[in-house]
Amino acid sequence: MRSDLDTRDLSSIRVSSLKGVGPALEEKLHKLGIRNIQDILFHLPFRYEDRTRVLPVGAARAGESAVFEGEIIACDVTYGRRRSLLAYLQDTTGRIGLRFYHFSRAQQQNLKQAGTIRCYGDVRAGASGLEIYHPEYVRVEAAAAMEETLTPVYPATEGISQIRFRSLVEQAIALLRGDNLAELLVSNSTMTLAQAIRFLHNPPPDADIDLLMAGNHPAQQRLAFEELTAHQLSLRIVRAELQKLTAPALSRPAGSYETAGRAFGFELTHAQKRVSREVADDMAKGQPMLRLIQGDVGSGKTVVAALAAVHAQENGLQTALMAPTELLAEQHFLNLSNWLNPLGINTGWLTGRVTGKKRAEELERISKGDAAVIIGTHALFQKEVTFNRLGLVIIDEQHRFGVHQRLALREKGADDIGAPHQLVMTATPIPRTLSMSMYADMDVSIIDELPPGRTPVTTTVMSDEKRDAVITRVAESCAAGKQAYWVCTLIEESEALQCQAAEVTATELTELLPDVKVGLVHGRMTPREKTRVMNDFKEGKLGLLVATPVIEVGVDVPNASLMIIENAERLGLAQLHQLRGRVGRGSAASHCVLMYRKPLGQLSRQRLDVMRQSSDGFLIAEKDLEIRGPGELLGIRQSGEMQFRVADLLRDQDLLPRVRETALAIMRDRRDQADLLVRRWIRDPEKIGNV
Ligand code: ADP
Ligand code: MG
Repeated sequence: MRSDLDTRDLSSIRVSSLKGVGPALEEKLHKLGIRNIQDILFHLPFRYEDRTRVLPVGAARAGESAVFEGEIIACDVTYGRRRSLLAYLQDTTGRIGLRFYHFSRAQQQNLKQAGTIRCYGDVRAGASGLEIYHPEYVRVEAAAAMEETLTPVYPATEGISQIRFRSLVEQAIALLRGDNLAELLVSNSTMTLAQAIRFLHNPPPDADIDLLMAGNHPAQQRLAFEELTAHQLSLRIVRAELQKLTAPALSRPAGSYETAGRAFGFELTHAQKRVSREVADDMAKGQPMLRLIQGDVGSGKTVVAALAAVHAQENGLQTALMAPTELLAEQHFLNLSNWLNPLGINTGWLTGRVTGKKRAEELERISKGDAAVIIGTHALFQKEVTFNRLGLVIIDEQHRFGVHQRLALREKGADDIGAPHQLVMTATPIPRTLSMSMYADMDVSIIDELPPGRTPVTTTVMSDEKRDAVITRVAESCAAGKQAYWVCTLIEESEALQCQAAEVTATELTELLPDVKVGLVHGRMTPREKTRVMNDFKEGKLGLLVATPVIEVGVDVPNASLMIIENAERLGLAQLHQLRGRVGRGSAASHCVLMYRKPLGQLSRQRLDVMRQSSDGFLIAEKDLEIRGPGELLGIRQSGEMQFRVADLLRDQDLLPRVRETALAIMRDRRDQADLLVRRWIRDPEKIGNV
């Protein structure tokens, strides 16, 4: 048995061969996608705890975790908002609170008499000053030994304790040698794969702790490179699969783009023409298009999408356009109907709110092909919807759609004509390095030009102490026949409170602005209510619209030329940019006022400065990435699909160009390696970048 294990590749040795792994544990491991020894080794710690040294209490800082050692000087039940047990630990440099919300009487007694303890936990600012909630602690009799190395913490191991998992890792590491874990890609790292893996599970005492905590250790970089490459490969494999499918090959568009745009009432920008041509080229190929259109807010992505739909219709094919919300779908429906109906192209409308007889009719129009371009929400790909020669699927604001939904829609294509073409429009510009990595499965077109005649939005940043002056400005603007938005961003995290505050603000502004009709829209209203208010605003029945940041998505009211954002320091750059994009859509000069509450932190100040200085979405996205990191900026594929084990898109972005080259080379020369790498890093390859 032993000798057998010694010679086999670790990916072929099942976890059940480890000591202590019976059927029950094996089952749990399988649930985590861990089947073999290689899987255990690649289940890497997602952070480390530093329990190697005791920190003086006086050096404690909120937000950090550390070991403290000292005497328990008090231990009493307190009655604040919630009953809790509060003890104080004191050393020669200060004291810190230990707070327990769950505790027993016995625990209280024991802790009171514990004398000197050593504890570990996250420090935070609590009611009594710095506190640790539910620290781990032990009594210290004599000078007890500290941990010698950083303590690895493993990602969710449901039903398997950290200690148990560590023991499995230990056994797995004992089996690891240089030759039984395949080096699947050439790396210019100084570490071998085996060395890197061993290091990360078990950092030696002399490891550079700061480097490791920051994720910049060569061992982490070695693996991050491989992980990012594996991720790229998974997307490229999907893409290669897709390219094997057939799709309807469209003839060239009947009219030129010059006339096509004119039918909509304007001249296409150069960028729109270029991107439209790219789309038409794709759809002529007989393979499913998968193209992403990136463009700044207001750059006219929808127009390009509409032209693609016209083109499909000329070829006797249906188009489905999906938006993430009812509101946005309706906006698209109105726009597209305005543009397409005069050309004799019928539009259809389907969302969850279309019910009863109307729904039955709409479904019939779709299945009979009476509607050529159907606009809606995810309701479009429910089972009951049968298309009639679906040739093109357009997805707006892609990140809010799950991969499975996209898949469902693709299956709506008819067998005899092949898979539909797919066009995806993003809401937010994405920096190039990132989009290369996130969208390796798609072709990307960029609309880098705004339609002419837009006047740039001027942005001012001011403290909310000047709120009165801002309100006067709203009054003046509305008196001049213009409309305004007032966005309430709250300090409170809860949506309920946000909406409540928006209500309060709306009431207040109604009083202060007797000559202005004030409307309110927030996330807790029903879609019907929201649409009604939005329509009133659009038709000019309301002068001021008070809103929570829900209006972020695609609202288009050209007469609105003033945007006030309260507590703007709370919002990310991408969101601020989206919000600001709601004004400056008409010919009048537009303004955006970013109000903040003092004191303004350094990062917030930086962000607001960026907003004041630039209105270029791509530049703002780059800055956002620098200031904050990719996670929230993208909001994209966040649903677990872009979660990495060691890699971090922001930290490791300098690796991306080489990752891309490497992935291309592997696809070309070593296709077998590609599959092995993907299987090593991605537990559920089906979930990634599916189309
Ligand atoms: P987004 O890229 O944000 O989706 P839209 O497609 O909604 O932008 O276009 C924003 C606004 O600009 C719409 O009112 C649209 O009618 C208008 N528009 C788009 N393209 C042009 C153009 N070439 N000339 C003039 N107006 C345009
Ligand atoms: Mg849009």
